[in-house]
Amino acid sequence: MLIWDWTIGIVDFAMGLFAAVVCVTYWRRRQARRRRELAPFPPHWRALLERRLVLLRRLTPDQRRLHEKRVMEFLTDIRLLGRGGLELTEEMRVLIAGFACLMLLRPDAYVFRGLKSVLVYPAPFWVRHHEPDELGLVNDQPELRLGESWNGERVVLSWEDVEAALDGDAVNVLVHEFAHQLDDENPETEGAPLLPDYTRWSKVMTAEFKALKQRSSQVLDDYGLEGPTEFFAVATEAYFQRGTELRLLHPPLYELLRDYYRIETSD
Ligand SMILES: [Zn+2]
Repeated sequence: MLIWDWTIGIVDFAMGLFAAVVCVTYWRRRQARRRRELAPFPPHWRALLERRLVLLRRLTPDQRRLHEKRVMEFLTDIRLLGRGGLELTEEMRVLIAGFACLMLLRPDAYVFRGLKSVLVYPAPFWVRHHEPDELGLVNDQPELRLGESWNGERVVLSWEDVEAALDGDAVNVLVHEFAHQLDDENPETEGAPLLPDYTRWSKVMTAEFKALKQRSSQVLDDYGLEGPTEFFAVATEAYFQRGTELRLLHPPLYELLRDYYRIETSD
């Protein structure tokens, strides 16, 4: 009986402590959200984004306000950390958040629900994975990567390749990995973000995937043939980096992504 009472006491204490920690965390988040809502968007961030993100010029004034709100939310809620000796500057953080939030212009979009951190390496990085592949084989040879996305929780990027994308390279590791984050918002589906209705998405994506299987595209990388998840990410890259060509060569795919991302990327 004595032990039981003592145990209850410990459990009560632990639960009380846990509730206090949760409460403090909640309070801090509320404070951060309130500060963010009250704080004006820093003019030097706006100037930087206008200079480096050419697509920003296509947004309406309402979309610009929404984009800035999302950038503030991104930078408050998601931790950005330098890795491999990289010192992340304020400019790098704002550009990463700015580009990622161009994918969140839907009024009902979440700012990457579940995403906790973005790790940034100075250049492509070596990784060694120990998980078995689809055949059950483990290949622990190191692989060079431009980026990674982990189960809706973490994104890893090579800064050198983010900069190349900002300069107009056809490869955009940032939107590729963040497309995987959008894909992860609905664990029930693969190769699609969270949508109220999947009919059109499924029809267009299936047709385009089959077409790529039969014949290479000038604008869609063959890496998209790895499966629906990679196809969505590769199509997103083409959409943000080569919108004009995508619209000319794959109009239904371009229109599908335009209606989802709510931005016109074609000239
Ligand atoms: Zn991928």
